[in-house]
Amino acid sequence: MNFCFSEEEEAFRARVVEFLEDYRDLDAFFGQGHKWPRVKALFRAMGERGWLSLGWPPEVGGEGKPIAYEYILWDEVGNARAARNPLASGIVAKSIIRYGSDAQKQKWLPPIRVGDLHFSLGYSEPEAGSDLASVRCRAERRGDTYVITGHKCWQSYAQDMDCLWLLCRTGTQESRGRGLSLFIVDLEARGVSVRGLPTLDGDQLNEVHLEGVEIPADQRVGPENGAWTIMAEALADERHIQFPPKRVRRDFEEMVDWLREQGLDSDPAVRRVLSDLAVEVMEVEMYALRVLDALQRGQTGVVEAAANKVFQSEVCQRIARSAFDFGGPEALTNGARVNTLWRQSLWETIGGGTSEMMRSLVARRGLGLGGRS
Ligand SMILES: Cc1cc2nc3c(=O)[nH]c(=O)nc-3n(C[C@H](O)[C@H](O)[C@H](O)COP(=O)(O)OP(=O)(O)OC[C@H]3O[C@@H](n4cnc5c(N)ncnc54)[C@H](O)[C@@H]3O)c2cc1C
Repeated sequence: MNFCFSEEEEAFRARVVEFLEDYRDLDAFFGQGHKWPRVKALFRAMGERGWLSLGWPPEVGGEGKPIAYEYILWDEVGNARAARNPLASGIVAKSIIRYGSDAQKQKWLPPIRVGDLHFSLGYSEPEAGSDLASVRCRAERRGDTYVITGHKCWQSYAQDMDCLWLLCRTGTQESRGRGLSLFIVDLEARGVSVRGLPTLDGDQLNEVHLEGVEIPADQRVGPENGAWTIMAEALADERHIQFPPKRVRRDFEEMVDWLREQGLDSDPAVRRVLSDLAVEVMEVEMYALRVLDALQRGQTGVVEAAANKVFQSEVCQRIARSAFDFGGPEALTNGARVNTLWRQSLWETIGGGTSEMMRSLVARRGLGLGGRS
């Protein structure tokens, strides 16, 4: 791989960096839940510039830009620690563009494009996380409506979002992945309740209970029992922006600054570990570019993305961990950045697919080991 961004792409990067100057103090890459009004304002400002629809086709109001633009945008937003990418303009909108009816495109895409409408992902359940084919939340068709009952958990940002992109069982339990459908559910609808689940880093995930929630049948996106393909394609679309590598470089730089403040930066043992980590940070960037390169060549990037996710999330942990190894009690101080990095990095290896599942995927699909999935 010999990867270079074009002059236009680099010019776009410069515009993004300049734009982000106004959001340097936002610091919502971690703990977005505490800062949602400002994050929403950031997304609206991005929407005004067409940056929430960079990769959408022009026919549906998008900018029709190559995939590298989204990569650059979210890498710089991650570097600025401003926010994580909104799930609405990526996962949800791209699924609607591919599988939605014309009426659904007209209704849902414009507010998503301008940053007004936001979604949480309702996939996982207490007994269905890695194995989503065993989802139990049920949607029953009754005339022009579906009635939904079930329990979802670990929904990021659901406390602030407008809608849930909900994975439900519409076929038999035995039909596994072939009996699932996707719905848009208003989080304010009757029968929906959202409850916060505190996380180790002081943020929150949520559980969502749905008790006989009635939604119009035209809020099912894609065919009944056809969710599996839609989800796989949406995820593939988003792989290059979910784990921006500059976030890791920023973790490393902040950790080095902190060690310097503690007067530890001249210790040879510290310097040896830092030089190893510096190389790993470069490797993270390489893994991320391999995902982008695969997608640009029209491949799925599934194996590259899984390798990237495992490596990046584990390097985040190693960076944060080294502050504990060298910094002693100061690194345990609540509120210190290195402390937040450590507690936050613990869940990075779970959300978006666990390290075991990612390794298994690389083994089977990348290395051809252990039979079919
Ligand atoms: C920060 C964070 C944000 C999240 N955001 C969302 C969200 O917005 N929406 C949403 O729907 N979900 C979300 N999740 C849920 C997340 O997708 C699941 O936690 C994850 O897929 C793991 O599922 P689980 O927790 O049920 O663990 P399990 O699947 O029960 O796994 C438990 C352990 O067993 C291992 N394991 C399971 N199966 C296998 C196997 N076949 N081979 C080897 N090892 C295996 C796992 O690796 C893990 O170590 C989030 C989770 C976190 C931590």
